[in-house]
Amino acid sequence: MGRYYHGTIAGKFWFTIQSSYDPDHFKKQTHQYTEVKQYYSCTCYVENEKKLFCNQCYSNYDDHYNSLDEVDKSDVLTYGKSLYYETNQIKYYFDNFELNFISIKLNELEKQIGSSIISDLDFQIDEENDFEYEINNQIFDKYDDQKELLELIARWCIGQQIKKAIELNGDCDIFCEI
Ligand SMILES: [Zn+2]
Repeated sequence: MGRYYHGTIAGKFWFTIQSSYDPDHFKKQTHQYTEVKQYYSCTCYVENEKKLFCNQCYSNYDDHYNSLDEVDKSDVLTYGKSLYYETNQIKYYFDNFELNFISIKLNELEKQIGSSIISDLDFQIDEENDFEYEINNQIFDKYDDQKELLELIARWCIGQQIKKAIELNGDCDIFCEI
């Protein structure tokens, strides 16, 4: 169990510490996410909600509709015409132009957390593997009773992932389980 995120970066939100909406802290405005929807049958992600069927996989609406099982067909009849459904994920997107703001936010977090704790983290990022990171797990015992500090550390870690992903990839998509 737990809430994971994937996309350009991957990882697991810190249990009881880190919100699925944490990437919001690296945006100039809040609530800059979209709710993720997927098409029935083919499960492609919906890029444009006006496209009622998936035109990547089907030549027309009826072809797509006919590929649905009976349960999905009755959902479509109940909830409207679109051949997609809501998922338990939200999506953040960051591009190159946001890099400067993200760096400022990371600097602020570093000041709040303190440079000695940051270096104790022994933070390592795996550029080959969805920018997953590892840290020294002893911090969880050491700061067990300091939930606010752990929250800041978790935020700093995902911020580092986003920054590194943009630097090497040009942009960063994050699908977050909620
Ligand atoms: Zn499709």
